[in-house]
Amino acid sequence: MAMCHLCSGFDIRTLLLESAAQTPESTGLTGRLYSDTNDYRPPIHFFHAHHDTIVGLKKSAERGCQLCDLFWSAWVKTINKADVTEEWLDKTFKGKLYLGASGWIEVRQGAPYITLSQRISNGTARTLCSFEAFADRGMILISPIPSVTNIIQIISQAMASLC
Ligand SMILES: [Zn+2]
Repeated sequence: MAMCHLCSGFDIRTLLLESAAQTPESTGLTGRLYSDTNDYRPPIHFFHAHHDTIVGLKKSAERGCQLCDLFWSAWVKTINKADVTEEWLDKTFKGKLYLGASGWIEVRQGAPYITLSQRISNGTARTLCSFEAFADRGMILISPIPSVTNIIQIISQAMASLC
């Protein structure tokens, strides 16, 4: 699988282990019939530094990085605009990109989602898209959420270290 150096350096195994190793917190969920499972793990938004801009991600996808292409194509579908130019993208979506993990509740979700986020000017994260990571007979596949009809499965050599 063709990948850029930024995607090749992404250690998904360490991310998942670090997310799971966080001290569980109260879920904050309440209800008459609900007992808090106290197993919420907060998000890790800025785990792996990725491209400096959205346009950098787009160009890497165009140069042939299959993982960048997955991120780019999953995200750009969410833009409700016909003429998306690089100038508009640079002006509208400022901030460095990071790979990370979503917050998650163990009894509900079992594992965090892998997120592509952008650090915006106030230091917080704007999640661009989320993916489910799963292992299948010796390989790691990731697929976009929630589009079942549009599942793109990419085998990542960098992620094969999980097996
Ligand atoms: Zn890439």
